[in-house]
Amino acid sequence: MSWTDLALNGRILVVDDAMENIQILHAALQDEHEVLFALDGARALELARAQRPDLILLDAVMPDMDGHRVLAALRAETSTRDIPVIFVTALSSPEDETGALDAGAADFISKPVNAAVVRARVRTQLTVKRQADALRALTLTDSLTGVANRRAFSQRIESEWRRCNRAQLPMSLILADIDHFKMYNDRYGHQAGDACLEQVARAMARTAGRAQDLVARYGGEEFAILLPQLDIAGAERVTLRLLAELAAMAIPHAASPTCPVLTASMGIAAVVPAAGQTSAALIRAADAALYEAKAAGRNGYRVAAG
Ligand code: GH3
Ligand code: MG
Ligand code: MG
Repeated sequence: MSWTDLALNGRILVVDDAMENIQILHAALQDEHEVLFALDGARALELARAQRPDLILLDAVMPDMDGHRVLAALRAETSTRDIPVIFVTALSSPEDETGALDAGAADFISKPVNAAVVRARVRTQLTVKRQADALRALTLTDSLTGVANRRAFSQRIESEWRRCNRAQLPMSLILADIDHFKMYNDRYGHQAGDACLEQVARAMARTAGRAQDLVARYGGEEFAILLPQLDIAGAERVTLRLLAELAAMAIPHAASPTCPVLTASMGIAAVVPAAGQTSAALIRAADAALYEAKAAGRNGYRVAAG
């Protein structure tokens, strides 16, 4: 089995203060999975954050930080919250088991471990995790265009707002609305309109392509492009690229009174998030700028004042 196949079968973090136990679990899992290990709770949290394992096998009893504290710390952080944890422990009273499950563990394996049991339990948890991930992705994706939906946008603008506020970095927002799209539907049909939205969304996702950028379908024929850690000058450059990309696609729009090909109008706003402000103000500012771009004749952009 190649390394990429192993990665497909999931990355597992084994946490135990006894090297001997890690070796046993490693031997049981290494043929099917990529296995990482940590000898204490602090290192486990570090690895969980940096490596995003799909599953953690966690020793309940460890010196310093025990399994319960590690689990609580994992659950307290957005980046590690959804990683399932199987407790592995010599304590096996019904109270120990229910205690672990109540604390948020997905399952419970008793020591001494049996390799076949470990493999089976791990497979089950990885399957559940994969299904949960797929479902989560689905609830955050716009089904027509495949870009993020409005729910994903709302979640992301909040988390980026907090991040940029902490780091005192700017964040920018572009709202883009297709020009005379009702006429496009009337002229070419709703299905052609749908295909057009897909094409525009793909072009936008290509253009705003940094890892932290987010292109979302904000409304019917309106898109929001969130650009964390980018100031207004940077956002303006992205906007110009978006407009150029649309022009290059040259999607015929014979019914448009302003341009023979499909165009969009865009409003840009940027801010360094400050305490006491909310992201709603940034959205309002971009929306007002978009309105001005429409009023100014469409196929262009305006920058929000301030
Ligand atoms: P403006 O230049 O002022 O933005 O004009 P507009 O016609 O684009 O704006 P308006 O808000 O009047 O109309 C939006 C149109 O977008 C109407 C609606 O049918 C179309 N639309 C919204 N969602 C979809 C969709 O999912 N598929 C298709 N094909 N059309 C859609
Ligand atoms: Mg429109
Ligand atoms: Mg609109």
